[in-house]
Amino acid sequence: MQVAVIGGGVIGVCTAYFLAAAGHEVVVIERYGNVAQETSFGNAGMIAPGYAAPWAAPGMPRKILSYLFRPETPVLFKPSLDPALWRWIRKWLAECEIERYRINKGRMQRIALYSQTLLQQISAQHGLEYEQTSGLLQLLRTKHDLRLAQPALEMLGAADVEHRLVDADAAKLIEPGLSDTTKFAAALYLPRDESGNCPLFTRQLKNIAQSVGVEFHFNSRVDSIETEHGRVAFQIDKRRFSADAVVISAGTDSAHLLKQIGIRIPVYPVKGYCATAHIKNFEHAPNGAVMDESYKVAITRMGSRIRIAGTAELGSTTPVLHERALRTLIKVGEDWFPDAANFHNSTFWCGARPMLPDGAPLLGATPLKNVFINIGDGSSDWTMAAGSGKIVADLVSGRVPEIDTDGLTLARYG
Ligand SMILES: Cc1cc2nc3c(=O)[nH]c(=O)nc-3n(C[C@H](O)[C@H](O)[C@H](O)COP(=O)(O)OP(=O)(O)OC[C@H]3O[C@@H](n4cnc5c(N)ncnc54)[C@H](O)[C@@H]3O)c2cc1C
Repeated sequence: MQVAVIGGGVIGVCTAYFLAAAGHEVVVIERYGNVAQETSFGNAGMIAPGYAAPWAAPGMPRKILSYLFRPETPVLFKPSLDPALWRWIRKWLAECEIERYRINKGRMQRIALYSQTLLQQISAQHGLEYEQTSGLLQLLRTKHDLRLAQPALEMLGAADVEHRLVDADAAKLIEPGLSDTTKFAAALYLPRDESGNCPLFTRQLKNIAQSVGVEFHFNSRVDSIETEHGRVAFQIDKRRFSADAVVISAGTDSAHLLKQIGIRIPVYPVKGYCATAHIKNFEHAPNGAVMDESYKVAITRMGSRIRIAGTAELGSTTPVLHERALRTLIKVGEDWFPDAANFHNSTFWCGARPMLPDGAPLLGATPLKNVFINIGDGSSDWTMAAGSGKIVADLVSGRVPEIDTDGLTLARYG
């Protein structure tokens, strides 16, 4: 079939790669001049099936409220009258119940573990190097953070995901660069979790996809989609094109494109930030990924640089850097790795994550024939990108995916 993939982020490029591998003629349509220019550009880089969990978790609403007026915070809220924002918050709150959390984390873990295996296979097959590191240390500053982590710990045990709860001394053996002055109650070590430079990987996978015939149309924005006579037509700069099937993987803009064809999904743009600094003292820098659970900020190593990424800003869609978010990233960097880099000299970035209220991605068919979706949960879709791409390519090809897709399709919204 001729398949058009809308969006050249990590999700669209992985989907195109697997579609081409399944024998389809594939075109990727991207409004910018290269792949991975939006959310896939500035993420923390964690490929973390062990850590992957929905933001909607027991205790999160109270935690967010307790941080709202502090100078450093994991969440920023810009009050807005946008009804979509309030609908999203209502749905998100309902997902914070323990039973919903277990279901959502279970779904995310299922696809994240599958995805990691595929990513490792692709990397080995093509000899890809994208600044990979192994191991993730989740730092729990307080006993309260440790209590909140209990449901995740139980699920890791039940799913047989290798993990160790360690004290500060043992954590220092794993990450010798950790500061002696910042205290914490415990740390959860996930040795199988990884990190890697997502835009570097995406560009490499684009080159491989091109070498097997995938066409990339850059600086082309899809304005609308419609179905006609079993084919899908779309409009780019007032010109009309058509394909046998289309996969919408346009990140935060997917909701807008789908709404035009009568499909509503509860995706909402939630802004995130990152700071990237050059390492000045390598012996004081992190070796693998570190997650500050209180501030929900990740610290990762990208070659000779450190990336600090996090903050969820609700209600703002402009690309303006909010001072409190930058202050939070710098604080977290200085708290844990004070001598590794001058975090004030970082390059700062912000971008919107496509967030679903419940966490797992939305993959596969829509009510419209030959229109498929691959829309992730914006907090961990680099982790799930290879798996999501393969599942969608299988569904477009009429094949049964290799893992159970229950809870990963539009059917979960009824
Ligand atoms: C601060 C931060 C930290 C993160 N950390 C992690 C992490 O550690 N681990 C992890 O797994 N995930 C992480 N994520 C999430 C991850 O980065 C995203 O989930 C992922 O990049 C989403 O990829 P995507 O391809 O769906 O979206 P995008 O990268 O946004 O790609 C969508 C593409 O579609 C294009 N597009 C949109 N509309 C159109 C149109 N009409 N026509 C043509 N093109 C269009 C856009 O230009 C864009 O290039 C983080 C996110 C943020 C913001």
